[in-house]
Amino acid sequence: MSTFTFSGSPLDPAALQRELRDEQCGGFAAFEGWVRNHNEGHAVTRLEYEAFAELAEKEGARIVQAAIEKFGVTRAACVHRIGSLAIGDIAVWVGVSAVHRDEAFRACRFIIDEVKHRVPIWKKEHYVNGDSGWVNCERCAMPTAHEHEHDHEHAHLHAHAHNAPAPAPMPDYSRQVALREVGAAGQSRLRAAAVLVIGAGGLGVPVLQYLAGAGVGRLGIVDGDRLEPSNLHRQTWYALADCGREKATLAANRVRALNPEVRVESHALRLDAGNAERLVQGYDLVLDCSDNFTTKFLLNDVALRTGKPVLFASVYQYEGQLQLVAGDASSPCLRCVWPEATRDGLVGNCAEAGVLGPVPGVFGSLQALEALKHLLGLPGLAANEMLIFDLVTLSTQRLRARRAPGCVAHARAGAPAETAPEPEVLEVQFASLAEATARGFTLIDVRDSQERIAEPMPASLHLPMSKLLAQASDLDVDGRYLLVCATGRRSGAAADLLRSQGFRECRSLRGGLKGLQSIA
Ligand SMILES: [Zn+2]
Repeated sequence: MSTFTFSGSPLDPAALQRELRDEQCGGFAAFEGWVRNHNEGHAVTRLEYEAFAELAEKEGARIVQAAIEKFGVTRAACVHRIGSLAIGDIAVWVGVSAVHRDEAFRACRFIIDEVKHRVPIWKKEHYVNGDSGWVNCERCAMPTAHEHEHDHEHAHLHAHAHNAPAPAPMPDYSRQVALREVGAAGQSRLRAAAVLVIGAGGLGVPVLQYLAGAGVGRLGIVDGDRLEPSNLHRQTWYALADCGREKATLAANRVRALNPEVRVESHALRLDAGNAERLVQGYDLVLDCSDNFTTKFLLNDVALRTGKPVLFASVYQYEGQLQLVAGDASSPCLRCVWPEATRDGLVGNCAEAGVLGPVPGVFGSLQALEALKHLLGLPGLAANEMLIFDLVTLSTQRLRARRAPGCVAHARAGAPAETAPEPEVLEVQFASLAEATARGFTLIDVRDSQERIAEPMPASLHLPMSKLLAQASDLDVDGRYLLVCATGRRSGAAADLLRSQGFRECRSLRGGLKGLQSIA
C-alpha cells in the first residue's frame, strides 16, 4: 500500500484504520480534517481540492516515510481528498500505529503539519452568496491586517492562485550548504536543532529571520508584548497594521511565511520564574533577546540549573555585548560578571534610553550568527569571554569573563565554589574614598551614567566598563588607580583586565561603595 494517496470519493476511516492494524502495536492515533461551514467570515457551502498529483504524491510519501523513521513508528498512512467535498466531509485522514502511544501521537502530528506545509494542493471555496475563490491558508501567506490564528484543520497550505494554481516553491539552502563548514551534514544538524528565542523585538527579529532562513528545524518564540508603532523603526519585520497584536503570534506567522519547513511554537507570555524551566525544556540552545535585567538574570539562573546554554545579547544606546553562558559549574555566568546589575532601571532599555534601529539589528544578527556556529560546531564566542561592540567608534573588544568565587547564581545552582586563588592584592579596602586619594590613588568610577547620577562620586574619573577598556591606552600604565563600582565585583573584573594589559598598580575597591557605607 502506498503511504500517501489521493481519493476522489468520500473516505472510510474504519477501512483505513483496518489497513494499519498490527498485532505488535499498542497505540494507534488518527487525525481527521473536516470541511467546515465557514472560513474567514464567509459562509462556505462546499470545497474543491485540486492537487499537483505527481509532485504531491511523491512529497506526501516522503513525509510519511520521514515520520516512520523519525518517530520509529510501525505503520503510517495519509489520504487526501480531491475533487468536490461537502460540509462535514473528511478532507484529510492520517493514521499511525506504533508500539507505544506517544510516538503514534507525535508522528501523526508531524505528518499533518508537514503535509499542510509541503504538499502542493489547492482549495477552492464556494460561498453561500454564489461566489467562489481559490484560497490560500494565511499561515503561509504574507501577513495582512486581517491575519488571524489558524487552527482550522480543514484548510491546507496552498500557494495563492487566482484559478491558476502553481506549485509552492520549496526552501533552498544551497547558498549555505555550499560552504565547506556547512555542507549536507551541517544542514542536517540545523534541521535537527531546536532553538528557543526569548523576545521577538529588536534583537529577536533578526535572530528569527536568520534562524528560520537557515532552516533550523524548530523555533520557540516567547514574548508577552503586543506590537506598538514605536517598535517598528527597529523591528522592521512587522507591519504598521499589525500594531496591537501579540508579537509572539506575529513573529511565528512571519517565520512560517519565510520557511514553512520550520516548526514554530509561539508563547505569548512573559518569561517568569514559574514557567522558565518548563519553556526551555526540549531546546538545544536559548537566545536571550530580551530588553530587561529581570529576564536576563532569570535565564542565567535557569541556564545554571538546567545546564542549557544561553547566548545573551544586550544593547544600550550605541553599544552592546554578547555573552554565552554555558550553564556548567566551571564557566562564568552573568552574575559572575555583573553581580550588582540585577535591578531594572539601573540601565535604561530602548524605551527609556533611545536607540537607532540598526543597533539591535547588528547585535541580533551577531547573535544569529553565533547561534548557527554553535549548532554547527564551529569556533565562536567562548563561554569565558564577552564581546563588546561600540557602534559609534566601531571598536570591538573580546574580554575575558571570570568565574567569580562568590557568585550567588552558581552557589544556588549547587556548584562547588571555584577554588582558584584570587590574583594577588587586586582588591584593597579603605574606610573612605578620601583615604584612598590620600594614599596616592586616582579614583576611577566604572559605574554607568545613571548609577553615577543616582549616587555621585566626587574627585573621580568616570569611565564606565566599556569605555574604560576602550580608553585604557589614554591612562598611565604605571599610575596608581583605584577602580570603584557599587559592590566591588565589576571593578574587580575591570581591574583584573587592566592588570592583564600591564597596569600593575591598578586596584579594585573591595566591597565597592556599599562596603564603604557599611564601614561608616
Ligand atoms: Zn556565576
